[in-house]
Amino acid sequence: MNQSRNVKIVATLGPSSSDRAMIRTLFETGVDVFRLNMSHGTQEDQRDRYELIREIEHELGRPIGVLADLQGPKIRCGVFADAPHELTVGQAFRFDLDDTPGDATRVHLPHPEILGALTKDSTILVNDGKIKMKVREAHGDAVVAEVLVGGEISDRKGVNLPDVVLPVAALSDKDRSDLEFACDLGADWIALSFVQRAADIEEAKALIKGRALVMTKVEKPAAVRDFPSILAASDGIMVARGDLGVEMDLADLPAIQKSLIRACRDVGKPVVVATQMLESMISSPVPTRAEISDVAGAIYEGADAVMLSAESAAGDFPVEAVQTMADVAMRVEADPQYREQIDASRTAAKASIATAITAAAREVAEAVEVSAICCFTHSGTTARLAARERPNAPIIALTPIRGTARALTMYWGLHCLVAEEVTRFKLAVVSAARAAKAMGIAEEGDRIAVTAGVPFGRPGTTNILRVAPVDEQAIYEGENNY
Ligand code: PGA
Ligand code: MN
Repeated sequence: MNQSRNVKIVATLGPSSSDRAMIRTLFETGVDVFRLNMSHGTQEDQRDRYELIREIEHELGRPIGVLADLQGPKIRCGVFADAPHELTVGQAFRFDLDDTPGDATRVHLPHPEILGALTKDSTILVNDGKIKMKVREAHGDAVVAEVLVGGEISDRKGVNLPDVVLPVAALSDKDRSDLEFACDLGADWIALSFVQRAADIEEAKALIKGRALVMTKVEKPAAVRDFPSILAASDGIMVARGDLGVEMDLADLPAIQKSLIRACRDVGKPVVVATQMLESMISSPVPTRAEISDVAGAIYEGADAVMLSAESAAGDFPVEAVQTMADVAMRVEADPQYREQIDASRTAAKASIATAITAAAREVAEAVEVSAICCFTHSGTTARLAARERPNAPIIALTPIRGTARALTMYWGLHCLVAEEVTRFKLAVVSAARAAKAMGIAEEGDRIAVTAGVPFGRPGTTNILRVAPVDEQAIYEGENNY
């Protein structure tokens, strides 16, 4: 069990991690949330993985989060008569609507609306940003660009257009189909790729209809620019450094990562740092020093989760990669400087009874020894607020709703548990004490802090904080009969 780690680990499943034994080992090694990447494989592949996750969850009795990541409106060029072609600095290259195969001077770009949106001096990046061009002539239905950085171009290579807010639908037909598929399956989170504006998120939410939470991948300059409105519309954020690093100056990434993490923590929405965290571990059992430092940095900055992509999906050492993240997390979180930084960067929460109660629970944990802060929650809000406080004691989120428990696995510090609905506060305290013991977080004789809302069964009422002994007899004796 990952009892003493607060930061969560998200691991992408793929060809290297599709059988039951591997998925189970990854979970036991420390994965909290599995990511199904809809850009690769078929819906049937993802369904098989999903079902294995749920079977393992059932076997081990601990909720597992599932994040389904939609491909989004990824733009690709057409095909060539013979490929690849090496584009050289200074040459002209044309993108047009002619669907005949391309050559060393032109290729089809099957997006008239994008050709129309490009203007003189717009940047065009091809093949993960390896080729860089600048538009010299924009004709509406074609552009002629000058190659600034050369490289190889071939069939259906990805095209990034960082300067323009693209007039493309937020969700392609494939995305709509994958979204419906993932919601039907029971994914807890849906990740949206290449989000450009808050309206893109609203559009997806209208289709998701509350069946899953929405994580916005920040990978377009427009999303960085309009981050406040993007964050307001999202349930969580992924710092998608892969495409972000193609569309923006690489040297800007660290500062962007830091500011996104800070903004998310301020409003209590989870933030995942993704891509190339342990890239060398795709083919090596040990990481580089720089990678270790990168993972540690994201944790020091206060991220809710760190993510593995190809390392766990297609690499040779998926288990070692998860173990590495877990080891780094343990060391960072044991470092007094981590606690100092986390405490120093805490901001006051928007005033409400629930935020006052969860802040008080954190203060109790600072003042006296408590083994856990136990939060009863229906929607997950109270547990979310408790995580926002980043207390110095483990948080146990108890909820009667399975979907809530699964979704909460994404948040910093939450140990999630499906618990029976309680009807009286005394029983809640007993149930919390039992859960803390069963999870190995507390022992007889310890103390726990418990938050709940009375009367029970009414969402949004968190109004009680009690510090109680982990001892049923004492709970009963110390309590009036309400
Ligand atoms: P991807 O998103 O892995 O789906 O491209 C993450 C990123 O771009 O960093
Ligand atoms: Mn991406």
